[in-house]
Amino acid sequence: MAEWIEGIVVDNIHWTDNLFTLKIDAGVASFNAGQFTSLALDIDGERIARPYSFLSAPGSQPLEFFFYTATDGVLSNELVALTPGDSVYVKNQANGFFTLQEIPECEEMWMIGTGTGIAPFLSMLATEEPWQRFKKVVLVYATRTAQDRRYQTMIEQFKIDRGDQFLFQSFVSREAATNALPGRIPAALESGKLEANVGLELDTERSHFMLCGNPDMVSEVTELLKARGFRKNRRRTPGHITAENYW
Ligand SMILES: Cc1cc2nc3c(=O)[nH]c(=O)nc-3n(C[C@H](O)[C@H](O)[C@H](O)COP(=O)(O)OP(=O)(O)OC[C@H]3O[C@@H](n4cnc5c(N)ncnc54)[C@H](O)[C@@H]3O)c2cc1C
Repeated sequence: MAEWIEGIVVDNIHWTDNLFTLKIDAGVASFNAGQFTSLALDIDGERIARPYSFLSAPGSQPLEFFFYTATDGVLSNELVALTPGDSVYVKNQANGFFTLQEIPECEEMWMIGTGTGIAPFLSMLATEEPWQRFKKVVLVYATRTAQDRRYQTMIEQFKIDRGDQFLFQSFVSREAATNALPGRIPAALESGKLEANVGLELDTERSHFMLCGNPDMVSEVTELLKARGFRKNRRRTPGHITAENYW
């Protein structure tokens, strides 16, 4: 069984009323970008643990995680209150197959995330692997409001560093926002707006999709892609769609 180690909170950045980032010093075992670990606190005498994707790149310290404070959420409402110097349990061993190692050869990688589901992609993009493997990397990031759209400086830096190899498309669903498509990802995929705006056509020979976050987005996008001839990616039968549901 994976063991717990004690991490020390270095920073807690409150971005909005319900989004925050924890930076944690913890000497965890090495992990692959896209994997998750578990964080835990002892609450009323019980160890409450939940999985969280690494946002920071493998090998970098402190570890970084991006959180949504779930309404009545048991653990997230305790994590949000942590301050520098506080302890938090971190599972030493990372888990998960939502990694670039699981992706078959392809030319164009679409990384599609909602809310905090952007985290594993930021970890992957901070490594060299996607830039060495794919001709184009498209990051699609859907949030409710423009304020919820975090990590813009990091995303801008990818644009500066990678030029035309990197394409970014923001979606903001609950208000009009600059540099964003309105509404939700599945609707824009169905109407052709997503491809038109990004300037890249989906193609079963070239494209792969990694989907992360809200399970409704994941299932709706998966169904739309299947209708266009894309298949789920499985180890035994490689395909085009690799997904991680956050709940
Ligand atoms: C593989 C994996 C990786 C994950 N990585 C992250 C991460 O990097 N950041 C993160 O914030 N959460 C992540 N989660 C979700 C996380 O594990 C918890 O479910 C979440 O923090 C809520 O826990 P809680 O105890 O506060 O709420 P609970 O009392 O357990 O309530 C859970 C409910 O909260 C809502 N919810 C859970 N997660 C989210 C979310 N991210 N955004 C919006 N609503 C949500 C859902 O309605 C869910 O039913 C991940 C989940 C999985 C399975």
